[in-house]
Amino acid sequence: MNDSNTTLDMLKEQVHQLCLRKHWGVNGVQNPQQVAMAMTVEMSELLEHFQWLNPEDVRALMEGRDPQRRAMIAEEFADVMMYGLQLMRTLDIDITGQILRKIDIVDRRPPKPYNPKR
Ligand SMILES: [Mg+2]
Repeated sequence: MNDSNTTLDMLKEQVHQLCLRKHWGVNGVQNPQQVAMAMTVEMSELLEHFQWLNPEDVRALMEGRDPQRRAMIAEEFADVMMYGLQLMRTLDIDITGQILRKIDIVDRRPPKPYNPKR
């Protein structure tokens, strides 16, 4: 399985099966409030890998010259996504539809003076 041949529903099911195997929650469904809080904790763990980086560190990361940091970021992002997928499954949210809806909303917004592309 990889990003090219895996659907979000397949990933939601993989995470759900993990919850069942671990006996987390009720029938593999954890309290969505707790899942959302756990997701934030994992997001903080992800941010730790970016904390205090200087511009050269960031450049090295973006150019693939820091595979160790990249691996740690990937692992923490997986934690964030796993909680997110669990949340989407529990609340029966079609994240593809929601992302497309948000893209449309952002597309129609007037540009802001700040340009993050610098
Ligand atoms: Mg973590």
